Amino acid sequence: MLPTLPITGLDIAPEELRTELIRAANWVADYLQAVPAGPVTRPRALDERRWLASSPLRDEGRPHTEFTDFIDREVAPFPCGNGHPAFFGWINSPPAPTAIIAELLSVTINASCGMGEHASMDLERGAVRALAELAGLPHGAGGVLTSGGSTANLLCLAAARSWYLASIDAEDGERYDAAHALLVCYQSADTHMSVGKSARTIGLPASRLRSIPLTDDRRLDAGALRTAVERDLAAGLLPFCVVSTTGSTATGAIDPIAEITAVCRDYGLWHHVDGAFGGLGAAHPALAPHYAGIADVDSLTVDPHKTLNVPIGCGAALVTDPERLRGAFSLRASYLDGNDAWPWLSDYTIELTRPAGRAFTVWAVLHQLGREGVTALLDGYLRHTALLRELIEAHPDLELVADGPWSITCFRYRTPGRGDAITTAIADRLRDRGRAFLATVDIDGELALRASICNYRTSEADIRTLVAEVLAIGAELCG
Ligand SMILES: *Cc1c(COP(=O)(O)O)cnc(C)c1O
Repeated sequence: MLPTLPITGLDIAPEELRTELIRAANWVADYLQAVPAGPVTRPRALDERRWLASSPLRDEGRPHTEFTDFIDREVAPFPCGNGHPAFFGWINSPPAPTAIIAELLSVTINASCGMGEHASMDLERGAVRALAELAGLPHGAGGVLTSGGSTANLLCLAAARSWYLASIDAEDGERYDAAHALLVCYQSADTHMSVGKSARTIGLPASRLRSIPLTDDRRLDAGALRTAVERDLAAGLLPFCVVSTTGSTATGAIDPIAEITAVCRDYGLWHHVDGAFGGLGAAHPALAPHYAGIADVDSLTVDPHKTLNVPIGCGAALVTDPERLRGAFSLRASYLDGNDAWPWLSDYTIELTRPAGRAFTVWAVLHQLGREGVTALLDGYLRHTALLRELIEAHPDLELVADGPWSITCFRYRTPGRGDAITTAIADRLRDRGRAFLATVDIDGELALRASICNYRTSEADIRTLVAEVLAIGAELCG
């Protein structure tokens, strides 16, 4: 008999592992402490980026202890920027410290939340329940955690399609083919582009994803939606789903949820709400009135890696009737038993082997905050947003362009003539100077600076830095 030897290569002796973990823990604590004093981002020469992007695989392995040093030298100094308190770009937040610890614990246990009977999957079930409750969905709502909002939108659109085709008895065969060619979905002119990607992925051509116009406050026009649905029905098409948004990416606007649901109920459509940014707004008293009717929608996307500061990537596809997700995604095989009494989470999504880290990190953040802490976190974003808007309105060189209920603020540096060029130049120079960071967005055909606030580390000083930087750069460029 051959002697059985351990498979070598990956093992690290216990005492050495302990030492390396402590070194890594020190690195993490030092890194987080140093972030605010450093630049938001640091540009890197393209040839160095190409070098990293094409690193060849060596024939021989190297000591594992080199890895932390490698990250410290080649990756950490060139961040995306979202860990920094003066980062106001796109919608990205820093990782909550408790969630950094949670992520390490989760990968140590390394359960798959797609199969088996184990505690990590129950943790995800609980995390999903807590998110659904915060979002204002009814008891009995469920769903799954996802890699982010884009995947959550895709799962919900696919579930909407399956549900609709089942409701007209067209799940397969010729009836499926005939019906599928007539499906129509609706969004607003400001809907996030991931909805377009989702539609494309489930086989809907661009021409059958209708963009409904906005009202003056940049919300989906429910009257125009009703007209469009009626017109499509009269033409023999099959309207099956409306996607509304709570907290639009462009301006933070919140669509009229109850009015849109009413249209959906009148004509048998699924109402999906994209709340990747603002899906948890019902937890804040000032925002809650905009969420009237949220309990009656069919599905909701939320993105804990945005407003909750859960590390990337963590979204959630929430449905008021979880059986509809199961109807779309459950498929069994002989090598995977499943559990009909308490279905595995792989029955509700396209992923089978699924990370537990999302459940751990959501749970850690919600555990630390509690419901009151979530409200206080959102309140901080709104207070900083109010300050930003106050500073913009108080300065003659700045113009407030769009200010939805959520913490996104669109503004411009006033300059005769050179509109878009100045806006782009300000955002670029701001990024290069490294003291603050924001994005730009097209508002009715003209670019605006866009500041999104969803960072637990942001302080009043960071807001003032942003405004001072924009004013200084504007004066430089126009002076
Ligand atoms: C960010 C965002 C998405 C996409 O979410 P990811 O997590 O980036 O995939 C979708 N919809 C809205 C409204 C968003 O703000």
